[in-house]
Amino acid sequence: MSLEKTAPDAIQEMLQPLENGQFQFACHPGVPCFTECCRDLKLLLTPYDILRLKNHLGLDARTFLDQHTNTELDVRRNLPMIYLRMQDNPRKTCPFVSASGCQVYPDRPAACRIYPVARASRMHRLHGTVQEDYFVLHEAHCRGFEESRAWSVQEWTQDQGLEQYHHFNNQWMEIITHPKLLQENGISEKQQQMFFLASYNMEKFLDFVLGGRFLDLFDLPEGMAKAVVDSDDALLELAFLWLKFSLCNEPVLKIRGR
Ligand code: SF4
Ligand code: SF4
Repeated sequence: MSLEKTAPDAIQEMLQPLENGQFQFACHPGVPCFTECCRDLKLLLTPYDILRLKNHLGLDARTFLDQHTNTELDVRRNLPMIYLRMQDNPRKTCPFVSASGCQVYPDRPAACRIYPVARASRMHRLHGTVQEDYFVLHEAHCRGFEESRAWSVQEWTQDQGLEQYHHFNNQWMEIITHPKLLQENGISEKQQQMFFLASYNMEKFLDFVLGGRFLDLFDLPEGMAKAVVDSDDALLELAFLWLKFSLCNEPVLKIRGR
Protein backbone atom coordinates (compact mmCIF):
# COMPACT_ATOMS: atom_id res chain seq x y z
CA MET A 1 0.00 0.00 0.00
CA SER A 2 1.41 3.39 -0.91
CA LEU A 3 2.17 6.20 1.51
CA GLU A 4 -0.28 8.35 -0.46
CA LYS A 5 -3.07 5.99 0.59
CA THR A 6 -1.99 5.43 4.22
CA ALA A 7 -0.84 8.93 5.25
CA PRO A 8 -3.29 11.27 7.03
CA ASP A 9 -5.33 13.53 4.69
CA ALA A 10 -3.40 16.70 5.64
CA ILE A 11 -0.11 15.05 4.67
CA GLN A 12 -1.44 13.44 1.48
CA GLU A 13 -2.03 16.92 0.03
CA MET A 14 1.64 17.81 0.60
CA LEU A 15 3.11 14.67 -0.98
CA GLN A 16 4.67 15.19 -4.38
CA PRO A 17 6.30 12.63 -6.66
CA LEU A 18 10.01 12.86 -7.38
CA GLU A 19 10.82 14.43 -10.74
CA ASN A 20 13.13 12.17 -12.75
CA GLY A 21 14.06 10.53 -9.46
CA GLN A 22 15.25 13.84 -7.98
CA PHE A 23 14.11 16.73 -5.78
CA GLN A 24 15.45 20.25 -5.30
CA PHE A 25 16.20 21.26 -1.72
CA ALA A 26 18.75 22.56 0.79
CA CYS A 27 18.59 23.33 4.49
CA HIS A 28 21.30 25.45 6.14
CA PRO A 29 21.59 28.38 8.57
CA GLY A 30 21.12 30.82 5.66
CA VAL A 31 17.52 29.82 4.83
CA PRO A 32 14.95 32.35 6.16
CA CYS A 33 12.97 29.60 7.92
CA PHE A 34 16.00 28.11 9.74
CA THR A 35 14.80 25.97 12.73
CA GLU A 36 11.18 26.96 12.06
CA CYS A 37 10.28 23.29 11.60
CA CYS A 38 11.76 22.23 14.97
CA ARG A 39 8.59 22.93 16.90
CA ASP A 40 5.12 21.57 17.64
CA LEU A 41 6.02 18.12 16.31
CA LYS A 42 4.47 14.74 16.95
CA LEU A 43 7.82 13.02 16.56
CA LEU A 44 7.82 9.24 17.00
CA LEU A 45 11.15 7.94 18.31
CA THR A 46 12.32 4.49 17.26
CA PRO A 47 14.54 2.33 19.49
CA TYR A 48 17.59 3.35 17.46
CA ASP A 49 16.67 7.05 17.72
CA ILE A 50 16.47 6.66 21.50
CA LEU A 51 19.78 4.82 21.68
CA ARG A 52 21.59 7.52 19.69
CA LEU A 53 19.97 10.42 21.56
CA LYS A 54 20.46 9.11 25.09
CA ASN A 55 24.11 8.30 24.34
CA HIS A 56 24.62 11.75 22.83
CA LEU A 57 23.22 13.34 25.99
CA GLY A 58 25.17 11.00 28.30
CA LEU A 59 21.95 9.75 29.92
CA ASP A 60 20.76 6.28 30.77
CA ALA A 61 17.61 5.23 28.90
CA ARG A 62 15.27 5.61 31.90
CA THR A 63 16.42 9.19 32.57
CA PHE A 64 16.19 10.09 28.88
CA LEU A 65 12.67 8.67 28.63
CA ASP A 66 11.55 10.49 31.79
CA GLN A 67 13.05 13.83 30.81
CA HIS A 68 12.32 14.00 27.10
CA THR A 69 9.50 11.71 26.01
CA ASN A 70 5.82 10.82 26.31
CA THR A 71 4.48 7.29 25.95
CA GLU A 72 1.24 6.50 24.13
CA LEU A 73 -0.34 3.13 23.46
CA ASP A 74 -0.82 2.28 19.80
CA VAL A 75 -4.53 1.45 19.72
CA ARG A 76 -4.38 -1.31 17.09
CA ARG A 77 -1.59 -3.32 18.64
CA ASN A 78 -1.52 -2.21 22.27
CA LEU A 79 2.17 -1.38 21.91
CA PRO A 80 3.78 1.50 23.86
CA MET A 81 5.08 4.11 21.41
CA ILE A 82 7.51 6.87 22.43
CA TYR A 83 7.23 10.49 21.30
CA LEU A 84 9.72 13.32 21.79
CA ARG A 85 8.20 15.77 24.29
CA MET A 86 8.08 19.34 23.01
CA GLN A 87 8.85 22.13 25.47
CA ASP A 88 6.08 23.72 27.51
CA ASN A 89 6.26 27.14 25.86
CA PRO A 90 3.90 28.96 23.46
CA ARG A 91 5.80 27.76 20.37
CA LYS A 92 6.17 24.19 21.69
CA THR A 93 9.78 24.07 20.58
CA CYS A 94 11.86 20.91 20.39
CA PRO A 95 13.99 20.52 23.54
CA PHE A 96 17.10 20.30 21.38
CA VAL A 97 16.73 23.35 19.15
CA SER A 98 18.79 26.53 19.63
CA ALA A 99 19.28 29.70 17.59
CA SER A 100 22.31 28.08 15.97
CA GLY A 101 20.43 24.90 15.04
CA CYS A 102 20.00 21.37 16.34
CA GLN A 103 22.09 20.68 19.45
CA VAL A 104 21.98 16.92 18.90
CA TYR A 105 22.65 17.12 15.16
CA PRO A 106 25.07 14.13 14.84
CA ASP A 107 22.47 11.94 16.57
CA ARG A 108 19.20 13.59 15.52
CA PRO A 109 16.26 11.21 14.93
CA ALA A 110 15.62 9.55 11.57
CA ALA A 111 12.48 11.67 11.02
CA CYS A 112 14.59 14.86 11.20
CA ARG A 113 17.22 13.42 8.84
CA ILE A 114 14.92 12.19 6.13
CA TYR A 115 12.79 15.35 5.72
CA PRO A 116 11.72 16.40 3.07
CA VAL A 117 11.74 12.86 1.72
CA ALA A 118 8.80 10.69 2.76
CA ARG A 119 9.54 6.98 2.73
CA ALA A 120 6.91 4.27 2.65
CA SER A 121 8.49 0.91 3.40
CA ARG A 122 7.10 -2.52 4.06
CA MET A 123 8.64 -5.92 4.63
CA HIS A 124 7.87 -8.72 2.18
CA ARG A 125 7.43 -11.55 4.69
CA LEU A 126 8.09 -14.38 2.24
CA HIS A 127 11.20 -12.94 0.62
CA GLY A 128 12.44 -10.92 3.63
CA THR A 129 13.05 -7.89 1.41
CA VAL A 130 12.07 -4.30 2.17
CA GLN A 131 9.95 -2.62 -0.50
CA GLU A 132 10.23 1.17 -0.62
CA ASP A 133 8.44 4.11 -2.23
CA TYR A 134 9.62 7.71 -2.00
CA PHE A 135 7.84 11.07 -2.23
CA VAL A 136 8.67 14.66 -1.35
CA LEU A 137 6.75 16.25 1.54
CA HIS A 138 6.30 19.84 0.41
CA GLU A 139 5.34 21.92 3.48
CA ALA A 140 4.36 25.53 2.76
CA HIS A 141 6.54 27.08 5.48
CA CYS A 142 9.70 25.31 4.27
CA ARG A 143 11.83 27.59 2.09
CA GLY A 144 14.40 24.88 1.44
CA PHE A 145 12.61 24.09 -1.82
CA GLU A 146 13.71 27.48 -3.19
CA GLU A 147 17.35 26.37 -3.07
CA SER A 148 18.94 25.09 -6.26
CA ARG A 149 20.69 21.91 -5.05
CA ALA A 150 19.24 18.74 -6.63
CA TRP A 151 19.38 15.34 -4.93
CA SER A 152 18.52 11.77 -5.71
CA VAL A 153 17.07 9.82 -2.77
CA GLN A 154 20.26 7.77 -2.68
CA GLU A 155 22.42 10.90 -2.39
CA TRP A 156 20.15 12.30 0.32
CA THR A 157 20.18 9.01 2.27
CA GLN A 158 23.96 8.98 2.22
CA ASP A 159 24.34 12.70 3.02
CA GLN A 160 22.02 12.44 6.02
CA GLY A 161 23.62 9.28 7.44
CA LEU A 162 20.38 7.33 7.13
CA GLU A 163 21.70 3.85 6.21
CA GLN A 164 22.29 2.77 9.81
CA TYR A 165 18.91 4.19 10.87
CA HIS A 166 17.13 2.31 8.08
CA HIS A 167 18.98 -0.88 9.07
CA PHE A 168 17.55 -0.82 12.59
CA ASN A 169 14.22 0.85 11.82
CA ASN A 170 13.37 -1.75 9.14
CA GLN A 171 13.80 -4.51 11.72
CA TRP A 172 11.63 -2.68 14.23
CA MET A 173 8.97 -2.06 11.58
CA GLU A 174 8.94 -5.79 10.85
CA ILE A 175 8.23 -6.45 14.56
CA ILE A 176 5.56 -3.82 15.18
CA THR A 177 3.63 -4.69 12.01
CA HIS A 178 3.88 -8.45 12.54
CA PRO A 179 0.51 -10.23 12.12
CA LYS A 180 0.99 -11.99 15.50
CA LEU A 181 0.67 -8.62 17.22
CA LEU A 182 -2.65 -7.92 15.55
CA GLN A 183 -4.57 -10.60 17.43
CA GLU A 184 -8.05 -9.73 18.64
CA ASN A 185 -7.14 -8.96 22.24
CA GLY A 186 -3.75 -7.40 21.47
CA ILE A 187 -0.69 -8.32 23.48
CA SER A 188 -0.73 -8.97 27.23
CA GLU A 189 0.58 -6.58 29.88
CA LYS A 190 3.61 -8.83 30.40
CA GLN A 191 4.35 -8.79 26.67
CA GLN A 192 3.98 -5.01 26.69
CA GLN A 193 6.61 -4.78 29.41
CA MET A 194 8.92 -7.07 27.44
CA PHE A 195 8.41 -4.96 24.32
CA PHE A 196 9.18 -1.76 26.24
CA LEU A 197 12.33 -3.21 27.80
CA ALA A 198 13.78 -4.66 24.59
CA SER A 199 12.83 -1.64 22.47
CA TYR A 200 13.61 1.33 24.66
CA ASN A 201 15.75 0.46 27.70
CA MET A 202 19.05 -1.09 26.65
CA GLU A 203 20.62 -0.95 30.14
CA LYS A 204 17.74 -3.01 31.59
CA PHE A 205 17.74 -5.34 28.58
CA LEU A 206 21.46 -6.03 29.11
CA ASP A 207 20.72 -6.82 32.79
CA PHE A 208 18.01 -9.21 31.58
CA VAL A 209 20.47 -10.96 29.22
CA LEU A 210 23.38 -11.19 31.66
CA GLY A 211 21.55 -11.50 34.97
CA GLY A 212 19.18 -14.42 34.34
CA ARG A 213 19.13 -17.66 32.41
CA PHE A 214 19.10 -16.07 28.96
CA LEU A 215 22.63 -17.16 27.99
CA ASP A 216 22.06 -20.67 29.40
CA LEU A 217 18.86 -21.02 27.43
CA PHE A 218 19.87 -19.65 24.03
CA ASP A 219 22.71 -20.69 21.77
CA LEU A 220 23.54 -17.26 20.36
CA PRO A 221 25.38 -16.73 17.06
CA GLU A 222 29.16 -16.89 17.51
CA GLY A 223 30.63 -13.83 19.21
CA MET A 224 27.25 -12.27 20.02
CA ALA A 225 27.35 -12.81 23.81
CA LYS A 226 30.58 -10.81 24.03
CA ALA A 227 29.53 -8.24 21.42
CA VAL A 228 26.37 -7.23 23.30
CA VAL A 229 28.46 -6.19 26.30
CA ASP A 230 30.79 -4.04 24.19
CA SER A 231 28.42 -2.59 21.60
CA ASP A 232 24.99 -0.95 21.89
CA ASP A 233 24.30 -1.76 18.24
CA ALA A 234 24.94 -5.48 18.85
CA LEU A 235 22.71 -5.31 21.93
CA LEU A 236 19.88 -3.78 19.90
CA GLU A 237 20.31 -6.50 17.24
CA LEU A 238 19.85 -9.10 20.00
CA ALA A 239 16.88 -7.20 21.45
CA PHE A 240 15.15 -7.35 18.07
CA LEU A 241 15.91 -11.08 17.72
CA TRP A 242 14.41 -11.59 21.17
CA LEU A 243 11.26 -9.65 20.26
CA LYS A 244 10.86 -11.58 17.00
CA PHE A 245 11.30 -14.86 18.89
CA SER A 246 9.18 -14.15 21.94
CA LEU A 247 6.43 -11.89 20.56
CA CYS A 248 6.22 -12.92 16.92
CA ASN A 249 7.02 -16.67 17.30
CA GLU A 250 9.76 -16.38 14.66
CA PRO A 251 12.49 -19.09 15.02
CA VAL A 252 15.36 -16.58 14.97
CA LEU A 253 16.99 -17.74 18.24
CA LYS A 254 18.23 -21.27 18.84
CA ILE A 255 17.40 -22.97 22.14
CA ARG A 256 20.36 -24.98 23.46
CA GLY A 257 20.05 -28.76 23.06
CA ARG A 258 17.33 -28.57 20.36
S1 SF4 B 1 15.98 16.88 17.13
FE1 SF4 B 1 17.10 18.55 16.16
S2 SF4 B 1 16.49 18.49 13.99
FE2 SF4 B 1 14.98 17.28 15.16
S3 SF4 B 1 13.32 18.69 15.68
FE3 SF4 B 1 14.75 18.73 17.39
S4 SF4 B 1 16.17 20.40 16.98
FE4 SF4 B 1 15.09 19.93 15.07
S1 SF4 C 1 11.61 24.60 7.33
FE1 SF4 C 1 12.76 23.45 5.75
S2 SF4 C 1 14.49 24.74 5.11
FE2 SF4 C 1 13.59 25.63 6.98
S3 SF4 C 1 14.87 24.78 8.60
FE3 SF4 C 1 13.15 23.40 8.39
S4 SF4 C 1 13.78 21.83 6.89
FE4 SF4 C 1 15.25 23.53 6.77
